[in-house]
This record gives sequence, structure tokens and C-alpha cells, in this order.
Amino acid sequence: MHQNQPRIRPADGHSKSRVAIIGTGLAGLTTAYLLHQDKQKRYEVTLFEQAPKFSLDAASITLKNEATGALERVDIPPRSFCRGYYANLCRMYDHLGVSFQRIQLIWVFAKVSAAAQAQIPSADAAQTMPGSYFVYGKRLHELLLVSPHFWLRGSLQNVLLTFYLAVCHAWFFVACFFFPPRMIQPERYLDVKGSAKNGQNCESFRQYLDRIWLPQYYVLYFLLPILSIICSCSHAEMLDFPASDVTSFMKGSFLRKTYVAKGGINRVQATLAEGIQDVRLQTRVNKVERVDGGVLIRYESTQDERRSAEEVFDRVVLAVSPNVAAAIFNPSKPLLSVIPTVPVTSTVLASPNTKISLVDEKTHVPSGECSYRRGEAQIMAFRTTYSDSIVQTESLHYLEGGLVVRTSPSGDVPEVKGTLDTSRFTRTLRTTESRNMVRKAMEADDGAGWVNGKDDVWIVGSWCWDGMVLLEGCVVSAMRVARDLGVNVPW
Ligand SMILES: Cc1cc2nc3c(=O)[nH]c(=O)nc-3n(C[C@H](O)[C@H](O)[C@H](O)COP(=O)(O)OP(=O)(O)OC[C@H]3O[C@@H](n4cnc5c(N)ncnc54)[C@H](O)[C@@H]3O)c2cc1C
Repeated sequence: MHQNQPRIRPADGHSKSRVAIIGTGLAGLTTAYLLHQDKQKRYEVTLFEQAPKFSLDAASITLKNEATGALERVDIPPRSFCRGYYANLCRMYDHLGVSFQRIQLIWVFAKVSAAAQAQIPSADAAQTMPGSYFVYGKRLHELLLVSPHFWLRGSLQNVLLTFYLAVCHAWFFVACFFFPPRMIQPERYLDVKGSAKNGQNCESFRQYLDRIWLPQYYVLYFLLPILSIICSCSHAEMLDFPASDVTSFMKGSFLRKTYVAKGGINRVQATLAEGIQDVRLQTRVNKVERVDGGVLIRYESTQDERRSAEEVFDRVVLAVSPNVAAAIFNPSKPLLSVIPTVPVTSTVLASPNTKISLVDEKTHVPSGECSYRRGEAQIMAFRTTYSDSIVQTESLHYLEGGLVVRTSPSGDVPEVKGTLDTSRFTRTLRTTESRNMVRKAMEADDGAGWVNGKDDVWIVGSWCWDGMVLLEGCVVSAMRVARDLGVNVPW
């Protein structure tokens, strides 16, 4: 238990505990939902968000086809999930009544030079795009088991390559299930106050791959392009991840179908935020500090920096990326400032002959059918640039109506012709060192420095758990805050 036990006040109508939640992504909104739903009505939630909209759905867009008048809602990012790895997210969606929509993808692997990256092939040319070296339309094992046509019609080279991939793929899964990552012998490390402690490091994904003898060709051209897209990072950064993240993810997603929230993530956002009155949009928090009688928050308007204010809350939840948490809440800096983050850019492009315009949505529940949801397989191309300085993959997701969502692990993507919209995100990476820091932040307070919940300040987010930086981490960390504050989690 933390040194500062939560002071849970009785529900007498006047002395509710005031909780400020900074950030309105899935983690912030799930925490807000749980505290707002407290049966004893002990918490009054205030949401702070620097953007003009709640961030969970902020980058999604509605597009209008000028020829047909049809509206398409495009979720950016797509926020896909499966039942195994995302157990808590799925339970929450079931509880909220969010239906699942299966998505099926045809995967195209291509190698591209940096100069050719600006050329975005049309949907018709996607499967034969320059540099493409493999295409498959179903998961490999299904393809091999159920498609005799594949064996009869494919070229010998393709058949051999598919067989090779199937063997590598199967071996990788066997390794994930039966050869757990090694914990490197307990190490002595200095904690944030300089005291010597014992710790355990998980081997990196790079070390694990060497140990299980997975062929280099499969790793370079198939495994890393996919994993680095899931984590929005370069191949080298992916290899630095703790091996346990990847093996748990592979086990959790084994033989699972991939889904998105039916109708769009906006429905999840609207349901989670329902009933929360005190919402401060376009308000940036720049300081969180423990003071006598509570936690002081200093904030300013993003419209006018001269409009700043201070307010004391009983508790504060930082639902932001680790670099922001470290910058605004000083005691967390020694732990959180070592956690790497990278910029990611998503661009929506329309092919030259389509007449499509952006619709300015005024509400949190926008109009329009969700474009990913028509049940047909869509092409997802993994285009990798292999240069001496960096090897990285970008994805091209081909939607209906000539739309392409291009996602690049970089903050500086030159705009190409046909760009309708660009969004930038911060993605938190994992390393064996940062894994240790997150674990330490979640440990019980031993008086040596700040830990989650100490000083009545909590952290939540996709990075606040011992796993891949995905939506499941948002839900798990929000549930932890609810439990610390004595609130029942209804799923
Ligand atoms: C391109 C891309 C694709 C992805 N695809 C998937 C996927 O398919 N499946 C999956 O599970 N995960 C996916 N993810 C990961 C997942 O979507 C994110 O990790 C998750 O949404 C992060 O949620 P969060 O609540 O932790 O933080 P965020 O959504 O980042 O929310 C933090 C919010 O805090 C606000 N904020 C920051 N600083 C301040 C401040 N000082 N004051 C006030 N507000 C502030 C920000 O504006 C932001 O809105 C993807 C991520 C990206 C970038």
C-alpha cells in the first residue's frame, strides 16, 4: 500500500473528493468513467485536455464523397484489438455494450527506397507495388490448410517462400509458448535516491531472437515490419523491446481474430465521458505539485497563454505520455524521464480522381458509416526502407473509395499530393531499462522516491503496465487507480 493512503470521503453531497484527470485518451476517459460511476458517488471528476476535443477520437475524420454524398468515418488510429491479449479492454467493451467488428487484411510486403516513398500506389496497383516481395490474404496457416488452389496455381518460388514462412512462423510461436524470455540474474542497481537494490532485467527481443535461432531473413523481411508497425518504431527500436512484451503479445493473439469497435471509437468515447460535467478543453497543465491540503495544478489556455490559473484538487491522475508526466510532475522525473517516446505521423490521402472533402464535425458522436467496417478484406502494405542509417517500415492501409491511411514512424513526413489530413501522435517505446522503471513506479512505496499513487498522484496510460504500449495498458492502469480509490470495477 502507498504511504499516502487515499482519503476517501463520505458521500454527504458537499465533500466529494475532487479528482483532476489530465489527458482524455482511452486511459484518462476510462479512469474518469470508473470514478464517475462510483456507487457511493464519492468522486467529482475534472478533465483537462490541451486539444480542442477529447483525444481518444480527436484524430478520426469524417469524409464526404462529393459524387454520392456518402459520409465515411475513418478512425485514426484504427485501435484494433483481439480477444486474448486485450482481455480487460474486451470486458470493458462488453460492459459498455460496444459491438466488435472483425477486420480482415491482405498483407503486402514491399521494399522501397527513401526517394520512392513519396509515391503512393493506387489500390489497384497495391498488390504489385514496386519492391513488393510477398502478398498473402489470410493467415498463413489457414492459407496452407484450406487453399489447394494456392498449391496448384502459385509459382514454385512463391510456394517455397510460403513453406519457409510457415515453418519460421510456427517455430516462432513454439518458441513464444515454450521458451520464455530469460530473466537476467538479479542485478544491483541504484534507486532514485542512490540506495543499492536488487533488480531483474528481462532479455531484449534482439537477445531472444538470437537465442531461439529464428532465421534472419524471416526476422528482417517479415517479422520486424509487422511488429514495428504495431509499435510505431524503427526495427532497431523494436529489437530493444523487452522480449517478454513480444512473447506475451504473440501468445495472447495466437489464433485470435482482429476487431475494431463497431461504429467507430467515437461511440466508446461518448459512452465513457457521458455525464462528466467539468471538462476543460484547450487547457494545458504545466505543473502538478503536492501542497498542504491537496495537489496543486497550474494550467493555461492553449488559446491565450496569458490566461493561466491554479487550483487545488484532492487527487490527480496523469493520463499523458511519460515525457509529459516527467515534465509537469517533478517527483516522477527520475523514473519516467528514461522512458523513450517517438513521434508518429498518420496521413489520409485520396487518389487523384476521387472527389472527397473533409466534414467539420461539431459533436462527439459524428455522422457517417465507418469505412473499415464493410466486412471485406482491405490491403495493408508494409513498405520498408533499408538504409545504412535506419531500417523502418511505414504502413499503407487501403480503404474504400480510393482512400489510403499512411502511418510513418517519424514526425517529419513530407506531404504528398492528395493529402486530406495529417495527425501527429507520441508513441511510448519500451526497453529493458524502461520496463524496470515502469515496474518500480508500480511497486509499493518504500519511502525511496515517488511511486504510483504517492502524493495522491497517479499515472495511467497505454505504457503504465508490463506489456506492449497498446489499449490494454490504458484499461489495466485505469482499473488500478479505481481499485486504489476503493471503486468497484464493473467488468
Ligand atoms: C498510429 C498508431 C496506431 C495505433 N494502433 C493501435 C491499435 O491498433 N491497437 C492498440 O491497441 N493500440 C494502438 N495504438 C496505441 C494506442 O492507440 C495508444 O497507445 C493509446 O491510445 C494511448 O492512450 P493514452 O490514453 O495512454 O494516451 P493519449 O491518447 O496519448 O492521451 C494523452 C492525452 O493527453 C493530452 N495532454 C498531453 N499533455 C497535456 C497537458 N500538459 N495538459 C493537458 N493535456 C495534455 C494529449 O493531448 C493527449 O490527448 C496506436 C497508436 C498509434 C500512434
